[in-house]
Amino acid sequence: MVNYLLFFGLFIVCGAGSLLFHEVGHVLIAIANNVPLSEIQFGWYNIGLSVTVPSYFPRQSLSLYHYAGGLISGSILVLLFLARNIKPFRSNMTQEWSAYPAWWINELILFWAVFQYFNGYLEGARFIDYASDARIMNLAVIFSFPVSFIANACVTLIRNRISHPRSRPMHA
Ligand SMILES: [Zn+2]
Repeated sequence: MVNYLLFFGLFIVCGAGSLLFHEVGHVLIAIANNVPLSEIQFGWYNIGLSVTVPSYFPRQSLSLYHYAGGLISGSILVLLFLARNIKPFRSNMTQEWSAYPAWWINELILFWAVFQYFNGYLEGARFIDYASDARIMNLAVIFSFPVSFIANACVTLIRNRISHPRSRPMHA
């Protein structure tokens, strides 16, 4: 029971962290476009954070500005996921897929990564105000779970293959 609560806590912390990185991504692009920090409005939007840039923000950079939140946040989570899957960072490389808590921690990190990439796509390419639409948020969750699950399973299979290569018949 404690383990499930811990997992749920990690899930929420990771989600909140991804949200923070998302907004930092927008802010970085704003600063790169010479918007002073003092002119960026920070606030709350529904259950999430939001940043608003002043109206003089260059139009040609708006698309990048919209993409940046999801892409930067998703990429930070992917790096974290990879770090947990690369040899120098892990002592025990033998993991059966889905059998260990570590696998599910990888899964929750990847879930939020896919969620952020999907939101970045919606925000940048579709220009959808996703945070205000419950249906789109549900769609993002429904999309992110199987995609991250399959990706996590594939990484585990590849990793196990690398760390435990199948023995081949020896021809002498
Ligand atoms: Zn955003």
